[in-house]
Amino acid sequence: MRTPVIAGNWKMNTTVTEAVALVKAMRAELSKVSNVEKVLCPPFVSLAPVKELIKDSSIKLGAQDLYFTEKGAYTGEISPVMVADLCELVIIGHSERRQYFNETSKVVNKKVAAALEVGLKPILCVGEKLAENEAGKTEEVVSKQLKSSLADISNLDGLIIAYEPVWAIGTGRAATGEQTNETIAFIRRNISGLYDDKVAQEIRILYGGSVTAANAAGFMVQPEIDGALVGGASLKAAEFLNIVIQTSAMG
Ligand code: PEP
Repeated sequence: MRTPVIAGNWKMNTTVTEAVALVKAMRAELSKVSNVEKVLCPPFVSLAPVKELIKDSSIKLGAQDLYFTEKGAYTGEISPVMVADLCELVIIGHSERRQYFNETSKVVNKKVAAALEVGLKPILCVGEKLAENEAGKTEEVVSKQLKSSLADISNLDGLIIAYEPVWAIGTGRAATGEQTNETIAFIRRNISGLYDDKVAQEIRILYGGSVTAANAAGFMVQPEIDGALVGGASLKAAEFLNIVIQTSAMG
C-alpha cells in the first residue's frame, strides 16, 4: 500500500506574515487527517517560521528547489544541507524552473542526486508541454525526462514523482483522471525498466495541474495516482484541507 501524498506548492506567494497566517488557518484540522502525507512547500524565507508552527504535528515541510553544491560562492543559492536542516522534502525540476530558469534535465539530475545524498526526499516533476501533448509525444517526453533526471542514481530512497502536464499547471485546465492514470501507469512501467518492479510498485507518483477541491476526487479514485502536487488551491486553507480530507476518504 502506498500512502498518498498531498503537497502544497505555494510558489512565489506569501510574505512570512501571510505564510504564518495560512499555516495557522489549517494546521489544527490538517494534522488530524490520517492516511495521507501532508506537505507544505512555502518560499525559502518562510521555511523556518513554518517549521516552528508545525513542529508537533503530522504536517511535513518541503522546499521548492535547491542548488546542488554543498556550500560556497554561489550568491543567492540555497544548498542541500541548508534545506535538509529544515525540510524532509524538496520539489525538484518544476516546469516553471525549466521554463523560466532554463533548468535542464542534466541540472535536475544533479539536484536530485544532491538531495538524496543529504537524506532529502525529492519530489521530481516531469510533464509534457501542450504542443508535445497534441503531437502525441507525452510518453516520449516523460520517459526522456525520467531517464536523464535519474541518470546514475541507483537508490531512489523515498523519491516521489509528480507528473505535471505543463498545459495543466495554473491554467484551470486539468487533465482527466483516466488520462492521468494511464500516463502514471506508463511512468511506473518506466521506473520498473530503469530499476525493478519492486521500486516501481513502491514509488509514489502524484498528479499536478489545476487540482481543486472540485476535481480532486476524480484523480484520487484512480489506482495509479498516489496524490497531488497542488499549486493555486494550496494557498486557500479550506480548499487545501478539503483536498486532503477527500484523499483520506478514498483510502
Ligand atoms: C504546481 O505548481 O505544481 C501546480 C500544479 O500548480 P496549479 O495547481 O496551480 O496548477
